[in-house]
Amino acid sequence: MRIAAFLERLREAGGVVTLDGEGAVRCLGNPDVVTPEVRTAVEQHAGAFRVFVERERAATLASTTTRSHGWCERCGRVVWVGTGGERLPDGQLVCGDCVAPWDIEAGSVPVEEPECPGVGWKDPGGPVPPHGS
Ligand SMILES: [Zn+2]
Repeated sequence: MRIAAFLERLREAGGVVTLDGEGAVRCLGNPDVVTPEVRTAVEQHAGAFRVFVERERAATLASTTTRSHGWCERCGRVVWVGTGGERLPDGQLVCGDCVAPWDIEAGSVPVEEPECPGVGWKDPGGPVPPHGS
């Protein structure tokens, strides 16, 4: 089995193979795509998938100077600084595309500091200037 081709097809169909916090391989996505057969295939080749995904991540990071927070627990993509990632109450990192209204209700917090010091949680204590001034 060629992992690159397998992953490409899986991703085009809406599935993803990612690694959890302990480095275990996980197969996620639409149940129509991520069938028990697909999960079994991924589990049987978990070691190879882990190596592939880790290499892919390293290559992604090496190709840019943009900082990242890590990887989205849901879609496996890199969560770049400035893309609105959130940290869920259980510690999982999700990207701006995957964070849902109910995650925010449950208490997820943005992983980024406000762009302007003094705005938001770094309250300087003084009057807040109106926008656009
Ligand atoms: Zn995501």
